[in-house]
Amino acid sequence: MRSAKKPRRAKDPDPASAEHLRPEAAIALADAAALVHELLRRSGPALSSRVAKRIQALGQAAVAPLVAVLIDSRLRAPSAPAGGWAPVHAARLLHRLDARPAIEPLLDVLATTDKLSPLGEAVSRTLAPLKGQLVGPILDRLPTAVGGYRRELWFMLAGCGVREARVFDQLLAALAEAPEIGAICLGEYGDPAALPELARALDAHPLGLMDEPGNDQPVFELREAILELGGRLTAAQKVKYERALWTRRIRTTAPGEHLPQHPDSACACGSGRIYRHCCLQ
Ligand SMILES: [Zn+2]
Repeated sequence: MRSAKKPRRAKDPDPASAEHLRPEAAIALADAAALVHELLRRSGPALSSRVAKRIQALGQAAVAPLVAVLIDSRLRAPSAPAGGWAPVHAARLLHRLDARPAIEPLLDVLATTDKLSPLGEAVSRTLAPLKGQLVGPILDRLPTAVGGYRRELWFMLAGCGVREARVFDQLLAALAEAPEIGAICLGEYGDPAALPELARALDAHPLGLMDEPGNDQPVFELREAILELGGRLTAAQKVKYERALWTRRIRTTAPGEHLPQHPDSACACGSGRIYRHCCLQ
């Protein structure tokens, strides 16, 4: 590991060393860009609070230079100055400023970044509080977004706290395309108007077979969303849920352990009727 030379404090030649003492308006944009770039290039996995404060002191003048660092994909490489951490620091610093002017580049970075990487995490955290400001840019991107990025946009859209037809329609589209994701998003969105569509999706979703497991996860998410929105399950939906639950349990239960009652078995109450026509109702 290369030990970075510490800049000499006493006679630091960096003309920007006292920038934070000057009024924000007096700092030329070019100066701010040079300062931000230089400070982030010299950083490592951790950003010193001194550097963070100097950049924050620039106020909104720091936003454009931070975005420039954020979108420079060369700076993400481990061989880049600061070991690839400069864009991560840029995203985190934007979180402390007014990041509204950075929404478009932040969303673009998310499209090409693993959500669970430090950069993806920093970008998501900076975007999250912007809520309603995100609706327009997300709706613009959804028609062409694919894969994990598409799912991430749906989640963000559902969490924006904005109830309007354009958003609702997109979440219904998510439900049609990926019932599991759509159910989670509509539950989060919180409008009971989604209940008929959720019920339809739950009725339509095929259960996996015991020896040929399908994906039963949508059954759990759809049920959850329906209950969350104040809806009730039909008798057939309850049975579907119990069957999915039983299939999940039998895959995770040790041979000697007790299994839950199968919906199609004799009811444990001793009535002589089968469970789904008895106490499951
Ligand atoms: Zn019973």
